[in-house]
Amino acid sequence: MNSELKTELFINGEWVKGAGQLPVMNPSTNQMIAAIATADQEQCDAAVTAAFTAFPSWSKSAPRFRSEILRRAFEIMTAEADEIARLISMENGKTFSDARGEVIYAAEFFRWFAEEAVRTPGDFRHAPSGDKRILVTHQAIGVSLLITPWNFPAAMATRKLGPALAAGCTVILKAASETPLTALWIVDILHRAGVPAGVVNFVMPQKTGAMISRMMHDPRVRNLSFTGSTEVGRILLKESADLILRTSLELGGNAPFVVLADANIEEAVKGAMIAKMRNGGAACTAANRFIVAESVAEEFTAKLIASMADLKMADGLSEGAQLGASVSGKERDKIAELVSASVLAGAELHLGGAVPVGDGAFYPATVLTVKGDNPILSQEIFGPVAPIVTFTDDAQGIALANATEYGLIAYVYSEDLKRALRVAEAIEAGMVAINRGVISDPAAPFGGVKQSGLGREGGFAGIHEFLETKYIGVEI
Ligand code: NAP
Repeated sequence: MNSELKTELFINGEWVKGAGQLPVMNPSTNQMIAAIATADQEQCDAAVTAAFTAFPSWSKSAPRFRSEILRRAFEIMTAEADEIARLISMENGKTFSDARGEVIYAAEFFRWFAEEAVRTPGDFRHAPSGDKRILVTHQAIGVSLLITPWNFPAAMATRKLGPALAAGCTVILKAASETPLTALWIVDILHRAGVPAGVVNFVMPQKTGAMISRMMHDPRVRNLSFTGSTEVGRILLKESADLILRTSLELGGNAPFVVLADANIEEAVKGAMIAKMRNGGAACTAANRFIVAESVAEEFTAKLIASMADLKMADGLSEGAQLGASVSGKERDKIAELVSASVLAGAELHLGGAVPVGDGAFYPATVLTVKGDNPILSQEIFGPVAPIVTFTDDAQGIALANATEYGLIAYVYSEDLKRALRVAEAIEAGMVAINRGVISDPAAPFGGVKQSGLGREGGFAGIHEFLETKYIGVEI
């Protein structure tokens, strides 16, 4: 695979040598995979210039032209799914099957937005006063800065690139420093699919904070689309205030997984395994708190422990691996510290909880039962750890679910759809899954409330994060 890897910067349609280098490590083996180019200030500025120069013609190009490029990108990405999945598994640590699932999901954003590119709605109406016509149209915002995290290195990139390109924006993509190789592969796919020079640029700044800040203070940049932690999102929201940048933020989560007293427990445990263990728990959508009705808690806990204990933890590329490594030793240690603090605060440990000996950033599947005030309930765990807390009536379950500053996603299990809907409506979250362990879908709006973010990606809303609404009043 190495000969196929792209490791340079991509500016104005060309692969460019960097000012420095950054090693990319395989967290399962602690071996280096490749060194990628890093950009200095001048190269970051050159990426902005390229995107700014390409914007007038790209934004005015026929939507069908942009659509067909995205469709070709979908086809190439789907054809190369196995290779990309291997690469994701190598640089991120997740299992091959999780990585392959991610590539298919990621490619769907190209297909969905290829279809959306030619369907931007407009409006033409009589003004209620009758004195004019109201014409409403949408125009590409301009140069967009796209910043992505390490946990879904393919899907977080395509979820931004797809709508940005469909809308007619030009972009500068900056991937997480742990997982840039997947993003570079995707940039290459777009290049091969026929994206004109300057429309898509990729940089890995030598100093992330300072250089991103400078780009955000360049008046040629008009939009920021960020996915990552709430902590960094908060910094960027403040930065975006200076030039009033359009900003969309997909931030952290602390998803409650609520099992009501009448839930089908077999199904709830199956869903819990998906909601918790997809990506080894390193997902903003990962079930972070299992909030279970007291009357079914014993059965749910026993079955969850049994399913978690069955998982094979190994290098994500090895045969039968079901739980891979965390992205780095640092991230793995954060998980271990959260579990230790939780146990110290009174949690009962039923499974896992110990860092294994040997190479690789592994952390085992772990189950804890906790009281409502345990500190682990207020943290985003980002690992294979399931804390279970109980409640007595639905109102208490809802209160526990809402006792967080996050509001990305929630899961509700009940055999009574009316009851589940009542609970879903009462939970403060941008998304609720009823009797399902996963609901992410390129055709549905993804995003959170409270400190989980601003704006939506995917669905019909996704393209509007890259469009301005323009009203033209017409004298008649
Ligand atoms: P992170 O530390 O916030 O980093 C995300 C991106 O921001 C990386 O590319 C990082 O670059 C960059 N960055 C860091 N500091 C920056 C700064 N001062 N200015 C500009 N950019 C900066 O998050 P992560 O650890 O990669 O990802 C995990 C987090 O992402 C979790 O909280 C998770 O919930 C969230 N997430 C949310 C969603 C969602 O859709 N809501 C989806 C996936 C993940 P460097 O690597 O160079 O530092």
